[in-house]
Amino acid sequence: MELISMKAHELHELIKKKEIKAEDIARAHIERIEETDRNINAFITFKPGEIIENAKKIDRYISKGGVVRDFTGIPISIKDNICVKDIRMTCASKILADYTSIYDATVIKKLNAQNYLLLGKANMDEFAMGSSNENSAFGPVKNPWDLERVPGGSSGGPAASVASFEAVCSLGSDTGGSIRMPAALCGVVGFKPTYGRVSRYGVVAFASSLDQIGPFGRDVTDCINLYNAISGHDELDSTSLDMKDKKDHEYKSGQGIKGMKVGVPKELMVKEVDSEVKASILNTIKILEKNGADIEETTLPSLEYALSVYYIIAPSEASSNLSRFDGVRYGYRDKDAQGLREMYRKTRAAGFGPEVRRRIMIGTYCLSSGYYDAYYEKAQKIRTLIINDFKKAFSKFDILVGPTSPTTAFRLGERMDDLLLMYLSDICTIPVNLAGIPAISIPCGLSSDKLPIGFQIMADTLREDNVFKAAHVLESEINWKITPKI
Ligand code: GLN
Repeated sequence: MELISMKAHELHELIKKKEIKAEDIARAHIERIEETDRNINAFITFKPGEIIENAKKIDRYISKGGVVRDFTGIPISIKDNICVKDIRMTCASKILADYTSIYDATVIKKLNAQNYLLLGKANMDEFAMGSSNENSAFGPVKNPWDLERVPGGSSGGPAASVASFEAVCSLGSDTGGSIRMPAALCGVVGFKPTYGRVSRYGVVAFASSLDQIGPFGRDVTDCINLYNAISGHDELDSTSLDMKDKKDHEYKSGQGIKGMKVGVPKELMVKEVDSEVKASILNTIKILEKNGADIEETTLPSLEYALSVYYIIAPSEASSNLSRFDGVRYGYRDKDAQGLREMYRKTRAAGFGPEVRRRIMIGTYCLSSGYYDAYYEKAQKIRTLIINDFKKAFSKFDILVGPTSPTTAFRLGERMDDLLLMYLSDICTIPVNLAGIPAISIPCGLSSDKLPIGFQIMADTLREDNVFKAAHVLESEINWKITPKI
């Protein structure tokens, strides 16, 4: 079997048995990236020489009897808003184009402890704002299934690198769907954990109450293993969950779904959902039923407001978080400005792209005195209603299911002039972030124009085990093959 088409857990077995070297795996992936990435553009930073050096180090460690863990020697791409010490981190923005991280994010420390192999930093929408990866200062990413289409966003680089066999796995961030939505459009698996399960230390904040790091893989097992590798309590993140006094529902593979209660919220089957997507989702629900799950349509009325609430809360938090990029402490500075205020203004006007500037303006407006009560406070109240609707649903159902994205991959440029349509791309994923619950997207079928469709599985807070159970069963029934056009 060709090395680049293998999953992390398959490569792991070969490395463990010493049947293959990390260096061989690295070379195969470097060759693939060199051949395909000029068309895909999934990487912002990629240094083949350093990758080979690191792979050799890992091989020396293994030959001396070092422990081979799940990700030892496995090539992984990392979204470019996650700090890796001494490596450039741009957030796909001009304002950070020359910035080098001075420390490792906690997720990177955890992967380093396993001796993973960093392949490079993956392209994204600037500061993770977008649904198509077209808001990158480093150019758009192309969908490996059709190079004229978007890979989804904002983690377009991570998703496309995994779908094009350039990387085995990837880490992305999900604030309103940025892992699940590109996973759906690229035909790979993407998982957003419960808020607080994975440390955000060393991840550039977009909307801190919504951001969560999670894995991409070409199957469910790789995503579960990668999630296990990066999750856990971290003192350096004050919102990180300490599980000491909480019950952790551990998932063991092979658990079936007999008797599992599955809710299908009608608010996620909105009119924007394309008819082919809908048909594929209904088909997938039938597979759950065939495997012994009880299916019932349900309603979470407040979900209707989720998109509006998100587009107040996320920009509000972003406007505050992004104030640190002022030309003084990080990255780009306008050198010709006269005086401090002009320096701030010119640096930020030239350093940030249009979508980021728009979010900062919307957020600043929503937080300003006189408007705060009408927008931000109101949005927070509705967020509570959404959380309560989910709580109520999960008192009855083990999982909720529906589409990940209302459509398959759209054409490059198609939604750039229609913001509302762009924002609607996340209508099915955003409620999950507002409630802080875990959710996965798995590929469930192809449209008539041969584009992947994603199926979303959501569960209650800390019940990732239920998500994984259902995902595994579906995966074993859906014979999914990734067939990039490149
Ligand atoms: N597309 C959404 C946005 O633009 C979500 C982004 C994300 O999850 N990072 O805000």
